[in-house]
Amino acid sequence: MTRLLLIGPPGAGKGTQAVRLAESYLIPAISTGDIFRSNVRNETELGTKAKSYMDAGDNVPDSLTNALIRDRLAEADCESGFLLDGYPRTTDQVRELDEFLAGHGAELDVVIELVADPDVVVERLRKRASEQARSDDDESVVRHRLEVYREQTAPLVGVYEGRGVLIKIDALGEIDDVTLRITEALASRGIALPDAATR
Ligand code: AMP
Repeated sequence: MTRLLLIGPPGAGKGTQAVRLAESYLIPAISTGDIFRSNVRNETELGTKAKSYMDAGDNVPDSLTNALIRDRLAEADCESGFLLDGYPRTTDQVRELDEFLAGHGAELDVVIELVADPDVVVERLRKRASEQARSDDDESVVRHRLEVYREQTAPLVGVYEGRGVLIKIDALGEIDDVTLRITEALASRGIALPDAATR
Protein backbone atom coordinates (compact mmCIF):
# COMPACT_ATOMS: atom_id res chain seq x y z
CA MET A 1 0.00 0.00 0.00
CA THR A 2 1.68 3.14 -1.22
CA ARG A 3 0.17 6.59 -0.96
CA LEU A 4 2.14 9.25 -2.76
CA LEU A 5 1.71 12.88 -3.68
CA LEU A 6 3.50 14.82 -6.39
CA ILE A 7 3.75 18.56 -5.81
CA GLY A 8 5.44 21.27 -7.83
CA PRO A 9 4.76 24.27 -10.07
CA PRO A 10 2.89 23.97 -13.36
CA GLY A 11 5.31 22.76 -16.01
CA ALA A 12 7.58 20.87 -13.60
CA GLY A 13 6.55 17.58 -15.22
CA LYS A 14 4.15 16.24 -12.58
CA GLY A 15 1.74 14.73 -15.10
CA THR A 16 4.49 12.98 -17.06
CA GLN A 17 6.13 11.55 -13.95
CA ALA A 18 2.79 10.62 -12.38
CA VAL A 19 1.85 8.36 -15.31
CA ARG A 20 5.25 6.61 -15.23
CA LEU A 21 5.29 6.15 -11.46
CA ALA A 22 1.73 4.86 -11.40
CA GLU A 23 2.68 2.22 -13.94
CA SER A 24 5.82 1.18 -12.06
CA TYR A 25 4.26 1.09 -8.59
CA LEU A 26 0.95 -0.38 -9.78
CA ILE A 27 -1.18 2.38 -8.31
CA PRO A 28 -3.64 4.76 -9.97
CA ALA A 29 -2.43 8.26 -10.81
CA ILE A 30 -5.10 10.72 -9.81
CA SER A 31 -4.85 14.13 -11.45
CA THR A 32 -7.50 16.64 -10.46
CA GLY A 33 -6.48 18.72 -13.51
CA ASP A 34 -7.18 15.75 -15.83
CA ILE A 35 -10.51 15.06 -14.13
CA PHE A 36 -11.53 18.70 -14.49
CA ARG A 37 -10.41 18.79 -18.14
CA SER A 38 -12.41 15.68 -18.97
CA ASN A 39 -15.48 17.20 -17.28
CA VAL A 40 -15.02 20.39 -19.32
CA ARG A 41 -14.73 18.32 -22.51
CA ASN A 42 -17.87 16.38 -21.69
CA GLU A 43 -19.69 19.55 -20.66
CA THR A 44 -20.78 18.12 -17.32
CA GLU A 45 -22.20 20.33 -14.58
CA LEU A 46 -18.84 20.16 -12.76
CA GLY A 47 -17.00 21.04 -15.98
CA THR A 48 -19.24 24.03 -16.59
CA LYS A 49 -18.57 25.28 -13.06
CA ALA A 50 -14.81 24.70 -13.25
CA LYS A 51 -14.09 26.05 -16.73
CA SER A 52 -13.93 29.79 -16.04
CA TYR A 53 -11.50 29.27 -13.14
CA MET A 54 -9.31 26.98 -15.21
CA ASP A 55 -9.22 29.30 -18.21
CA ALA A 56 -8.18 32.17 -15.93
CA GLY A 57 -5.46 30.03 -14.31
CA ASP A 58 -7.16 30.20 -10.91
CA ASN A 59 -7.79 27.31 -8.58
CA VAL A 60 -11.25 25.82 -8.82
CA PRO A 61 -13.05 26.43 -5.48
CA ASP A 62 -12.12 23.98 -2.71
CA SER A 63 -15.74 22.89 -2.23
CA LEU A 64 -15.89 21.48 -5.78
CA THR A 65 -12.40 20.00 -5.71
CA ASN A 66 -12.76 18.35 -2.32
CA ALA A 67 -16.03 16.68 -3.29
CA LEU A 68 -14.47 15.36 -6.48
CA ILE A 69 -11.41 13.88 -4.78
CA ARG A 70 -13.43 12.34 -1.95
CA ASP A 71 -15.46 10.41 -4.52
CA ARG A 72 -12.38 9.40 -6.49
CA LEU A 73 -10.40 8.13 -3.50
CA ALA A 74 -13.39 6.06 -2.40
CA GLU A 75 -13.19 4.01 -5.61
CA ALA A 76 -11.96 0.43 -5.38
CA ASP A 77 -8.71 0.92 -7.29
CA CYS A 78 -7.42 3.25 -4.56
CA GLU A 79 -7.45 0.43 -2.02
CA SER A 80 -3.96 -0.56 -3.14
CA GLY A 81 -2.72 3.03 -2.81
CA PHE A 82 -2.58 5.99 -5.15
CA LEU A 83 -0.47 8.78 -6.52
CA LEU A 84 -2.01 12.23 -6.27
CA ASP A 85 -1.00 14.78 -8.89
CA GLY A 86 -2.17 18.36 -8.42
CA TYR A 87 -4.14 17.76 -5.20
CA PRO A 88 -3.95 19.12 -2.53
CA ARG A 89 -3.18 22.65 -3.75
CA THR A 90 -4.42 24.71 -0.80
CA THR A 91 -4.26 24.40 3.00
CA ASP A 92 -8.00 23.72 3.05
CA GLN A 93 -7.45 20.79 0.68
CA VAL A 94 -4.67 19.46 2.95
CA ARG A 95 -7.12 19.50 5.86
CA GLU A 96 -9.73 17.71 3.76
CA LEU A 97 -7.27 15.04 2.62
CA ASP A 98 -5.95 14.55 6.16
CA GLU A 99 -9.49 13.99 7.39
CA PHE A 100 -10.32 11.58 4.59
CA LEU A 101 -7.17 9.54 5.16
CA ALA A 102 -7.52 9.56 8.95
CA GLY A 103 -11.04 8.20 8.45
CA HIS A 104 -9.42 5.24 6.72
CA GLY A 105 -6.61 4.90 9.27
CA ALA A 106 -4.14 6.06 6.64
CA GLU A 107 -1.73 8.87 5.82
CA LEU A 108 0.53 9.91 2.96
CA ASP A 109 3.76 7.91 2.85
CA VAL A 110 5.84 10.31 0.80
CA VAL A 111 5.36 13.73 -0.78
CA ILE A 112 7.59 14.25 -3.80
CA GLU A 113 8.36 17.87 -4.60
CA LEU A 114 9.46 18.47 -8.19
CA VAL A 115 11.74 21.48 -7.96
CA ALA A 116 12.07 23.61 -11.11
CA ASP A 117 13.22 27.11 -11.88
CA PRO A 118 10.26 29.39 -12.86
CA ASP A 119 11.96 30.50 -16.12
CA VAL A 120 12.45 26.92 -17.23
CA VAL A 121 8.87 26.12 -16.38
CA VAL A 122 7.52 29.03 -18.44
CA GLU A 123 9.57 27.85 -21.40
CA ARG A 124 8.31 24.26 -21.06
CA LEU A 125 4.73 25.47 -20.89
CA ARG A 126 5.22 27.63 -23.94
CA LYS A 127 6.24 24.49 -25.79
CA ARG A 128 3.28 22.51 -24.44
CA ALA A 129 0.93 25.33 -25.53
CA SER A 130 1.93 24.83 -29.15
CA GLU A 131 1.83 21.02 -28.90
CA GLN A 132 -1.34 20.39 -26.89
CA ALA A 133 -3.36 23.60 -27.30
CA ARG A 134 -4.32 23.75 -23.64
CA SER A 135 -6.40 26.88 -23.16
CA ASP A 136 -4.61 27.69 -19.88
CA ASP A 137 -1.11 27.56 -21.38
CA ASP A 138 -1.33 31.08 -22.82
CA GLU A 139 1.69 33.01 -21.49
CA SER A 140 -0.14 35.52 -19.28
CA VAL A 141 -2.28 32.70 -17.83
CA VAL A 142 0.87 30.64 -17.24
CA ARG A 143 2.43 33.48 -15.27
CA HIS A 144 -0.76 33.77 -13.23
CA ARG A 145 -0.79 30.01 -12.54
CA LEU A 146 2.79 30.27 -11.28
CA GLU A 147 1.74 33.11 -9.01
CA VAL A 148 -1.21 31.08 -7.70
CA TYR A 149 1.19 28.18 -7.08
CA ARG A 150 3.62 30.43 -5.20
CA GLU A 151 0.89 31.92 -3.03
CA GLN A 152 -1.45 29.01 -2.38
CA THR A 153 0.44 25.76 -2.98
CA ALA A 154 4.14 26.38 -2.24
CA PRO A 155 3.38 26.79 1.51
CA LEU A 156 2.19 23.15 1.58
CA VAL A 157 5.75 22.01 0.93
CA GLY A 158 6.72 23.33 4.37
CA VAL A 159 3.77 21.55 5.95
CA TYR A 160 4.85 18.17 4.56
CA GLU A 161 8.50 18.87 5.30
CA GLY A 162 7.50 19.47 8.91
CA ARG A 163 5.84 16.06 8.95
CA GLY A 164 9.04 14.45 7.70
CA VAL A 165 7.48 12.97 4.56
CA LEU A 166 8.93 15.32 1.94
CA ILE A 167 11.56 14.44 -0.65
CA LYS A 168 12.86 17.13 -3.00
CA ILE A 169 13.68 16.09 -6.55
CA ASP A 170 15.44 18.19 -9.19
CA ALA A 171 12.88 18.28 -12.03
CA LEU A 172 15.35 19.44 -14.68
CA GLY A 173 16.93 17.16 -17.24
CA GLU A 174 15.75 14.11 -19.13
CA ILE A 175 12.41 12.55 -18.21
CA ASP A 176 14.08 9.17 -17.54
CA ASP A 177 16.64 10.76 -15.24
CA VAL A 178 13.95 12.50 -13.19
CA THR A 179 12.01 9.21 -12.89
CA LEU A 180 15.19 7.47 -11.73
CA ARG A 181 15.85 10.16 -9.12
CA ILE A 182 12.35 9.66 -7.79
CA THR A 183 12.51 5.85 -7.65
CA GLU A 184 15.89 6.00 -5.90
CA ALA A 185 14.61 8.50 -3.36
CA LEU A 186 11.52 6.36 -2.76
CA ALA A 187 13.70 3.27 -2.32
CA SER A 188 15.73 5.09 0.31
CA ARG A 189 12.42 5.65 2.12
CA GLY A 190 11.66 1.94 1.99
CA ILE A 191 9.26 2.15 -0.96
CA ALA A 192 10.58 -0.36 -3.45
CA LEU A 193 9.37 -1.05 -6.95
CA PRO A 194 7.02 -4.04 -6.96
CA ASP A 195 8.75 -7.30 -7.71
CA ALA A 196 9.19 -7.80 -11.46
CA ALA A 197 7.50 -11.21 -11.11
CA THR A 198 4.28 -9.60 -9.90
CA ARG A 199 4.17 -6.95 -12.61
P1 AMP B 1 -3.18 20.99 -13.62
O1 AMP B 1 -3.45 20.05 -14.73
O2 AMP B 1 -2.84 20.30 -12.33
O3 AMP B 1 -2.19 22.06 -13.97
O4 AMP B 1 -4.56 21.77 -13.33
C1 AMP B 1 -5.18 22.56 -14.32
C2 AMP B 1 -6.23 23.47 -13.67
O5 AMP B 1 -7.23 22.68 -13.04
C3 AMP B 1 -5.69 24.38 -12.57
O6 AMP B 1 -5.12 25.57 -13.07
C4 AMP B 1 -6.96 24.64 -11.77
O7 AMP B 1 -7.79 25.58 -12.41
C5 AMP B 1 -7.65 23.28 -11.82
N1 AMP B 1 -7.21 22.41 -10.69
C6 AMP B 1 -6.53 21.24 -10.78
N2 AMP B 1 -6.32 20.70 -9.57
C7 AMP B 1 -6.88 21.57 -8.68
C8 AMP B 1 -6.98 21.60 -7.26
N3 AMP B 1 -6.45 20.62 -6.51
N4 AMP B 1 -7.62 22.65 -6.70
C9 AMP B 1 -8.16 23.64 -7.44
N5 AMP B 1 -8.08 23.69 -8.77
C10 AMP B 1 -7.45 22.66 -9.41
